[in-house]
Amino acid sequence: MDLLDTLTAKGLRGEVPTREEALAVLATTDDELLDVVAAAGKVRRRWFGRRVKLNYLVNLKSGLCPEDCNYCSQRLGSKAEILKYTWLKPDQAAEAARAGVAGGAKRVCLVASGRGPTDRDIDRVTDTMAAIQEADPEVEICVCLGLLSDNQAERLKAAGADAYNHNLNTSEKTYGDITTTHTYADRVDTVKKAHGAGLSACSGLIAGMGESDEDLVDVVFALRELGSDSVPVNFLIPFEGTPLAKEWNLTPQRCLRILAMVRFVNPDTEVRIAGGREVHLRSMQPLGLHLANSIFLGDYLTSEGQAGQTDLDMIKDAGFEVEGAGEATLPRHRADVAAASSAASACGSGGGCGPCGGHAHAPASEDTPASAAEDTDASDGELRSDLVKVRLRGAGTELAPNA
Ligand code: SF4
Repeated sequence: MDLLDTLTAKGLRGEVPTREEALAVLATTDDELLDVVAAAGKVRRRWFGRRVKLNYLVNLKSGLCPEDCNYCSQRLGSKAEILKYTWLKPDQAAEAARAGVAGGAKRVCLVASGRGPTDRDIDRVTDTMAAIQEADPEVEICVCLGLLSDNQAERLKAAGADAYNHNLNTSEKTYGDITTTHTYADRVDTVKKAHGAGLSACSGLIAGMGESDEDLVDVVFALRELGSDSVPVNFLIPFEGTPLAKEWNLTPQRCLRILAMVRFVNPDTEVRIAGGREVHLRSMQPLGLHLANSIFLGDYLTSEGQAGQTDLDMIKDAGFEVEGAGEATLPRHRADVAAASSAASACGSGGGCGPCGGHAHAPASEDTPASAAEDTDASDGELRSDLVKVRLRGAGTELAPNA
């Protein structure tokens, strides 16, 4: 297939495909899927070998958010029966982080719901990072607190943060359809603030919210232009009690095509399978490892993942290995670019709270390509509470974390 030969050759050289080539990946059929995975897998192995970086989420403050992001179980007016609690104490957060590091995580992601942090919140997170680094000096810390005000990114950097997460989530064109309380431009601004302060930019997307292929390609190219060092790919978890509860538009095949497209556009960038991995990829998760070089270990912010040991077993069974604390994630030339752009206070990448994925379709017929038929999932329009399990353990509870 000429397309895949072209994309592989570009990816091996670290070149970005054209927008038309990225769209063509999303339009491939299920008959072509394994060829797509194999092609993007070559690119993944060129830059990241068989390493899988493990990240561990600690939800510092859960629920009760004044913002109205439609995809989020913590949003204003959410009826989702999630854990709700205010700021964890530093020792509580450090205990949860330790469980993740003990399970193999290289990076701990400290996340709090809300529009953005107050200066007092930055103090709290500073104390929390100190408690975590006292126990695990080598651990990477990424912070995700929403929209940043002036100088807050600099304070986080000075306090020892390595990275800041703020997702762009979807295209600029459709951003207003998923959130009204802040704008796409607000998100871009925060990513730039973080990157400009010398923090590694972690910014990604959510697939499965009803967006078009063009929207997905738009946001992925925007993330590349912003210089995101890490691109989390969330697949929407349609929580009961949120506006997108019936938005079940993804299939495992669609998710793999999206991951492959993100990999081709970001050949030498960390691509992370984030929220919704178990819900949407299901038994196809191991194929995702041939595309992404990073995943979350254990549970997510407000939903449960599979057991941490199952994550580790899956990585081993699929022939991959957990990336060690002493190993660089990004290829050398990317790390150099990140350092140089930080020093020059250049741009950044997007972000948002929470690993949290869609599409539409027509009935299958003999004339309908398999991908198009299946991308409009059988459960469209229904609640699937059997697939979404609310997190009731770990941070904010008396029960041990899943790591
Ligand atoms: S994504 Fe973040 S800002 Fe939006 S509702 Fe959820 S917690 Fe609030």
